[in-house]
Amino acid sequence: RAKELGRNNLQVFTEEMAAKAHEKLKQQEELRQALARQEFFLQFQPQMNLATGRVFAAEALLRWRHPERGTVSPAAFIPLAEETGLIVPIGDWVLRAACRQARAWQDEGLPPLIISVNVSARQFRERNWAAHVAAILTETGLDPFRLELELTESLIMQDVPGAIATMHELQAIGVHLAIDDFGTGYSSLSALKRFPVRRLKIDRSFVADIPTDLDDNAITAAIISLARNLGLRVIAEGVENQAQVEFLRQSGCDEIQGYFFSRPLSAPDFEALMLQPRFSIHSV
Ligand code: C2E
Ligand code: MG
Ligand code: MG
Ligand code: MG
Repeated sequence: RAKELGRNNLQVFTEEMAAKAHEKLKQQEELRQALARQEFFLQFQPQMNLATGRVFAAEALLRWRHPERGTVSPAAFIPLAEETGLIVPIGDWVLRAACRQARAWQDEGLPPLIISVNVSARQFRERNWAAHVAAILTETGLDPFRLELELTESLIMQDVPGAIATMHELQAIGVHLAIDDFGTGYSSLSALKRFPVRRLKIDRSFVADIPTDLDDNAITAAIISLARNLGLRVIAEGVENQAQVEFLRQSGCDEIQGYFFSRPLSAPDFEALMLQPRFSIHSV
C-alpha cells in the first residue's frame, strides 16, 4: 500500500514536471512566432522636466498582444526572451519601431523629443552592436542625439571594461545613455564616474514611499545630489503623487516619469498629449 502510494506520488510529480516543461516549450514557441505574427507593440510614457513642465522624452515600453492571454507585460516574457536569446531579434524590433515612431513624430511637427529605449544585456553584448545601432538610425532617419538607450547597472557590471568600450562607441555615434533602475544594482560609485552616461533614473522602489519613509528620502536625495555633482541629469521613475513631486522638486530632481503625470500611452494618445496647446504640472 505504502509502495503503491509512493509510486503514485512519483507519477504525479513527473507528470507535473512534464506539464511544466511542455508549457514552457509552448511559451517559447509562441514567443518565437510573435514577431512574425506582429503581436508586439509599443507604448510610450512621457518624461517631464520639472522646471518647465514640458515633456522632453518618451520611454518606449514593449507589450505583447497575445491571441489568448490578451496584453502581456514585459515582466512576464522578457526573462524567457533573454533565456532563449530571442531578446536579440525582439530588441531589434523595439529599437527599429521606436526610432521609426520618433522620426514620424518629428515629420508631423511634434515638439522635439528624445526616444528612450530599454536594452537587455544579451543585446548589448552582440558583436559590433554600436555599428548596428548606427545602421538602424540611418535606416529610420532618426538623428542619433534623439535616441537614449537605458542600460541597467547589472548589465554594465557583468563586464565593466567591455561595457565601457561599447558605451564609448555609442557615445561616438551621438547616442545618449541612461542608467535605469539606479540604486538597485551594485555599481560602485567610483565606477560610475567612468561611465559615459547622461542621465540616472532613480529606481521606483525608492520613490514609492517618499516622503513618509525617511530612509527612502535619504537615498533619493543622495542619488539626486550625486548625479548633480557628477554633472548628470536625474529622473525619478514611478512618481505617482503630488507629495512625491514636491519632495523631488525640493531635492533638486530635474525630471519625473510616472502615473502621476501619465501612464504609458498608445502612439496616437501620446501624440494627442504632445499636441495639447499647453500643459503643465500645475494643471494635472
Ligand atoms: P523600466 O524600464 O524600469 O520601465 C518602467 C516600468 O515602470 C514600466 O513597466 C512602466 O509601465 C512602469 N511605471 C511607470 N510609471 C509607473 C508608476 O507611476 N507606478 C508604477 N507602479 N509603475 C510605473 P513595464 O512597461 O511593465 O516594464 C517593466 C520592465 O520591462 C521595464 O522596466 C524594463 O526593464 C522592461 N522592458 C520594457 N520594455 C522593454 C524592452 O523593449 N526591452 C527590454 N529589454 N526590456 C523592456
Ligand atoms: Mg526603462
Ligand atoms: Mg526603470
Ligand atoms: Mg525596472
